[in-house]
Amino acid sequence: MDFVALKNKYEKIKSESRKLDMSRGKPAPSQLDTVNELLFAISSGDECILPSGVDCRNYGGIDGIPQMKSLFAQILGMEEKEIIVGGNSSLTMMYDTVARAMFFGACEGSKPWSKCEKISFLCPVPGYDRHFAISEAFGMNMINVPYKEDGPDMDFIEKAVAEDESIKGIWCVPKYSNPTGITYSDEVVRRFAALKPKAKDFRVFWDNAYVVHDLFDGGDSLLNVFDEAKKQGNEDMFYIFASTSKISFAGSGIAVFASSKKNVDHALSYMKYQTIGPDKMNQLRHAKLFPNIDSIMVQMEKHAELIRPKFLAVLEAFEKELSDVEGVWWSKPKGGYFISLNLPKGKAKLVVSLAKEAGLALTPAGASFPYGKDPDDTNIRISPTYPTLDELKQALELLCTVVKLVCHKDFE
Ligand code: PLP
Repeated sequence: MDFVALKNKYEKIKSESRKLDMSRGKPAPSQLDTVNELLFAISSGDECILPSGVDCRNYGGIDGIPQMKSLFAQILGMEEKEIIVGGNSSLTMMYDTVARAMFFGACEGSKPWSKCEKISFLCPVPGYDRHFAISEAFGMNMINVPYKEDGPDMDFIEKAVAEDESIKGIWCVPKYSNPTGITYSDEVVRRFAALKPKAKDFRVFWDNAYVVHDLFDGGDSLLNVFDEAKKQGNEDMFYIFASTSKISFAGSGIAVFASSKKNVDHALSYMKYQTIGPDKMNQLRHAKLFPNIDSIMVQMEKHAELIRPKFLAVLEAFEKELSDVEGVWWSKPKGGYFISLNLPKGKAKLVVSLAKEAGLALTPAGASFPYGKDPDDTNIRISPTYPTLDELKQALELLCTVVKLVCHKDFE
């Protein structure tokens, strides 16, 4: 399409006052409806008493109910003693884990991070904005780590952690990474497990948020990092997180922190000051609906049926409209919640702002980078799940028009 025709198309769409939103990776209402049984999972007081005699309505059980420990042990391929089942948000557990290390140290006898002159975190980019926001909130120095096709650049990471004692942690989303969709290869996982950091209290924040979130046949498989770490005697180095936020209700799911027994005991020794116990009723509701990993897989197929057509719509639109646009490429993930759209240098902010003017809210350009700054201004995170398929198609028409317009040789 020539430049004038593209411009006219953009102006026409703009005049239609569309109100479209692809800004956050939220489940659509139709996905939430697949789990409405949760609303009625418990109907009497008797059902609240566990076989162990624990009354879920009462105080206690700080590390979670046994049924949910068992479920997360199955999901993560770990042992129940390595698991703390929490409230509704893994992000809260990540924040609290950082806060504990800041105030009290990452392990017995180690210096609180806040007493160190400088704290640095490695941040594979593009990554999850809320991870970087936690680091920013605690005043950490964030170091961008480039991605390769099979995970973050391990040469970079191995060298950095071996040389720089101020590096205390790294944020990882190892499966269907937010937003690249990349799953770490076996080699990357093994290299993580074998890291030899200079800082003895260095920790890998392994956020396995999309552990069971396959969308297409032959979904990616992720090597069990904790098994590999045990082989290296490195299991204390891993903090593993997940939640049912994108399995059940995003705002009312169940989160998990998993690590070595030593780290779990250390965490509990501080958590006991924070709470007398998590919301065991919600844990029980989940345990009733999801007694084992098989029931989780059935549920994930319901999500996939709703999300798959949306991912396909994005991929088909990009293929049809953008494959001839020089310097534009995108991820083709087999699961997760995001597609990463990459533009020629210096174009991302412009695309987001022109799309906004014409009625489409996208994730702000740069959001997937520390301090919200994409050094090349190339990356846009596409979140296809929330809009209906019809809205998504309208959004894609607009987005592709803007990308073609901005990347046109006559665009000034
Ligand atoms: N981790 C990642 C990588 C995410 O993408 C998200 C949500 O988008 C979360 C964590 C949030 O998890 P939760 O709802 O358990 O706090």
